[in-house]
Amino acid sequence: MKTLGILLALALLIIPLTVDALKCPEGAYIGRDNQGNEACRDIDTNQIINPATRLMFDSQTGEVILSDEQLLYIAIGVIVIIIILAGIAKVSQKKSEPQVIPRHGWSENEKEQVRIRQDGKCKMCHKPPPRWEYDHIDGNRENNDLSNCQGLCPNCHSVKTNE
Ligand SMILES: [Zn+2]
Repeated sequence: MKTLGILLALALLIIPLTVDALKCPEGAYIGRDNQGNEACRDIDTNQIINPATRLMFDSQTGEVILSDEQLLYIAIGVIVIIIILAGIAKVSQKKSEPQVIPRHGWSENEKEQVRIRQDGKCKMCHKPPPRWEYDHIDGNRENNDLSNCQGLCPNCHSVKTNE
C-alpha cells in the first residue's frame, strides 16, 4: 500500500505546475535545494517541500516523505478506486451471464401433429408414453422445424440426452 501511495504521489509530481513566484505552504520557509535553486523547506524537519503538491522530499535520498494525513488520503483514494473497479467488474459479469435458450420451440398444435405422426407411441421404444417429451432429433435446440421433432417417453428421452 505504501509503495502504491508513493507511485501516486510521483504521478502527481509529473503533472506540470507553473508557479510564478515561489510561495511556500504554511510551516515551510524559502531555502535552497541541492542544486542551489529556490525551494521550500519544512521549518521543523528542514525537508524540501513541493509548494504545489505540498509533498516533502528527503534531502539526502530525494524520496517523497508522506505525512500520516497524506497517506490517509491516498489510502482512501485507493480504496475508493478498488470499490469502483469491483463495481464495474460485477456489472460486466452480470452482462456476460449466458442467456437461457428456450428448450422447445414447438406449439401445442405441432406437438399434437408429432403424436399423430407416431401413432401415439414413443419414437424409440414404440410404447405409449406415460408423459410426452419432445426432442430435437439433430440435437440443435434452435432448429425447431417440425421434421426435427420427435416425441419420446421420459425414459428414452433421458437415454438419448445422456448418450
Ligand atoms: Zn420410449
